[in-house]
Amino acid sequence: MESKAVVSLVNGKKAFGSNEVLKDISLTVNAGDVLAVIGPSGGGKSTLLRCMTLLETLDAGDLSYGDLVVCASNADGRAVYSDKATIAKAKTRFGLVFQNFNLFPHYTVLQNVTDALICVQKMPKGEALTRGRDLLAKMGLADKEAMVPCDLSGGQQQRVAIARALAMNPDVLFFDEPTSALDPELTREVLKVIRDLADEHMTMVIVTHEMGFARDVADQIIFMDGGVIVEQGPASELINNPQHDRTRAFLANYD
Ligand code: ADP
Ligand code: MG
Repeated sequence: MESKAVVSLVNGKKAFGSNEVLKDISLTVNAGDVLAVIGPSGGGKSTLLRCMTLLETLDAGDLSYGDLVVCASNADGRAVYSDKATIAKAKTRFGLVFQNFNLFPHYTVLQNVTDALICVQKMPKGEALTRGRDLLAKMGLADKEAMVPCDLSGGQQQRVAIARALAMNPDVLFFDEPTSALDPELTREVLKVIRDLADEHMTMVIVTHEMGFARDVADQIIFMDGGVIVEQGPASELINNPQHDRTRAFLANYD
């Protein structure tokens, strides 16, 4: 087997004007792995996820989803993106869950989950509804399909967003601080469904401030600060025995 990397980024760089937000980031996520990304606010975590999910373009670097090359650095060190068809195909390989749910407010819960299946993936409607209902049941929301997002708690809305991301059957799911808008009880119910996905070997990249969760659920943790990966290692090792002063100082805030 050539490689089981689901997604890989090599020497990724991104600046906004003179602000170098990603200085030189390389990471690989293998099938079934859970990677947690931790670090202080402003360190570039969201920008990293936005570049990896094609919401932002990289200035430099090589980004691939499996055998699909999204972009590659040319001789001048600038990222050159692949053709539209390849990009469109790459976009089917991942799902993204945001901090603030980003559901369509005027759609029902079930429509939120099935819309892209029907409109983008052109799945027959009956099949899409069955898949949507299965996923809502899995998220503990079987009785909520006809409601609109504002009738749900934040934790329920986030579980709808996870069902929506899973509907497209992605190879990898990205989460950007999925619980930071939630109070502790709702946080727990959302972390539980992510934990269940990890138990099923869903490949995931999770930006989080929940250190206990990261230690227990992630295989690897990356500590990012100032646009670089300061430290990366097996989850419990990085949390229990950080090697760098900056990592230690950051983790001291969470005791
Ligand atoms: P984190 O998610 O770790 O808090 P971000 O990736 O959101 O960090 O932000 C990193 C830096 O990039 C910050 O200095 C932020 O102001 C800047 N930044 C993020 N997005 C943009 C943007 N669209 N335009 C300009 N600057 C941005
Ligand atoms: Mg962020």
